[in-house]
Amino acid sequence: MGKALPLPQVECAFLLNISHIVEEMLYNIVADYCRRFNVSITDEYDRIVFCGYDSFIHGDKGQTTMGANGTIHVQILDPWLLELEANPLVCQMFATIMAHEMVHVAQALTGREGLKLRIPYDKNDANEEYFFDPAEMEAYLLENLYMSKYGTHLKEYGKDL
Ligand SMILES: [Zn+2]
Repeated sequence: MGKALPLPQVECAFLLNISHIVEEMLYNIVADYCRRFNVSITDEYDRIVFCGYDSFIHGDKGQTTMGANGTIHVQILDPWLLELEANPLVCQMFATIMAHEMVHVAQALTGREGLKLRIPYDKNDANEEYFFDPAEMEAYLLENLYMSKYGTHLKEYGKDL
């Protein structure tokens, strides 16, 4: 039997100290996700780590890795490390990437596999395979909703730096 919140321990390593904002956003997203899909947190993972990085890895803006040691590791392209101007578009992009990866965290915490839709796609095309993967379809569906609903503080932080 899974449990509802609280979340496992969360650690953050970003150039700006946004730990409390990231934690609040994750809490709100996981709470929404559990309510919306009627799922709860299992005891498979006991630690969630977020870190910023400063270059595109395989063209990815974010990457969530589920470790066998019970750690969920989330890498996010950090605009402040990239020394991009913190304009509203950059901040919104950052919050959207964060929301997308947090959906993957919610999926890992609850064991939910994503949106299972019967959409035909080319299994030999890596791009199609990625975008029609149930976990990705769900993350792309929810990222803008969660960015708008729960990303307000993240979008505003750093705007005036
Ligand atoms: Zn994804």
